[in-house]
Amino acid sequence: MFRGYKYRIYPNCAQAAVLNQMFGNARFVFNWALMMNLNNLQTEQRTLSPFLIMKELTRLKEIPGYEWLNVSVIQSLQQSIVNQSNAFKRFQKNKSGFPKFKSWHNPRCRVGFPQNTRIDFNGNKISVLKLGWIKARISRGFNGKIKSSVIEKTPAGKYFISLTVEFPNPIVKQKAINPSTSVGIDTGMKTFATFSDGRIIENPRHIHAHRKRLSILHRRVNSKIIGSANRIKAIRVLAVLHSTIANRRTDFLHKVTTDLARNYETVVCEDLDLPAIIQKSYFSRGFSDLGLGQFYVLLKYKVEQRGGNFIKIGRFKPSSKMCYCGHIEHGLKLSERKWTCKQCGSVNERDLLAAKNILKYGMSIY
Ligand SMILES: [Zn+2]
Repeated sequence: MFRGYKYRIYPNCAQAAVLNQMFGNARFVFNWALMMNLNNLQTEQRTLSPFLIMKELTRLKEIPGYEWLNVSVIQSLQQSIVNQSNAFKRFQKNKSGFPKFKSWHNPRCRVGFPQNTRIDFNGNKISVLKLGWIKARISRGFNGKIKSSVIEKTPAGKYFISLTVEFPNPIVKQKAINPSTSVGIDTGMKTFATFSDGRIIENPRHIHAHRKRLSILHRRVNSKIIGSANRIKAIRVLAVLHSTIANRRTDFLHKVTTDLARNYETVVCEDLDLPAIIQKSYFSRGFSDLGLGQFYVLLKYKVEQRGGNFIKIGRFKPSSKMCYCGHIEHGLKLSERKWTCKQCGSVNERDLLAAKNILKYGMSIY
């Protein structure tokens, strides 16, 4: 079983310089491989295999004037070639546009280290090939084996390392599904989540709280001349705000999902077709703000880690329009959050009703 860990790191000046060279080299090799493929497309009407380009890379590294390529770990340069080939494959399958050259303006910088990453929990430092020990803030430990790592520099200028750690497969006993320890969840725009037992979690509205500031910063970026130092500065300020918002959202989602996984053994939720929802412009802002996709990924992983059951049911199966008595009320407007059943007279709160119906349906199919 693999799990990811991400820590903030603080390279010193010399290490930052080496990293910068590595980011640049990865970009250079990507562009160089793309150039080779473009030439080959013109002459032979097909792209080259990544292995052939890798052979060429070995030759290139030995040419005087290209010694700086040796600053990088060879596997990370080979990864650039693979990425570049994948970009062509995606294009050929019509899944993305024609591969583009990577510009040094591109604020996203990543470099991978496929082996020999070590971590010192007591000393708060992490060692990678060619860079040695880097100061780090290690928030939580683990006792697995580090398989690989990726160092990334964010547009805000912060450095992070992501470790892929391998653990021996845990023997977690799968818990039986018991209605009394199960919960149905309905997520929505008004309230973040409504549970079948009546609990609710309010929508944190991260972006909303920052929307005014975001739009000011966006305008500031647009008012600066493209390519100017002031524009780059303005972009950096905007990026810092975006990362603050993202961090708060992730923090919120972790707290909520940990709490849920502790309190319930079985969780039932709707299988939301998120990309489709996000594409509908009316919802898009609010929905991508909520981080629902991330919410379900974290929830599934945390529930299953404890031997619990994560049940996804089809969309539209139960709904906020179906009373417990079986009566379905058609023609409810989105704004009508409460309705009275014509058949049995009970007053239904739609979010709660949906959560209860989700639970009921989830229990019925198991
Ligand atoms: Zn009814």
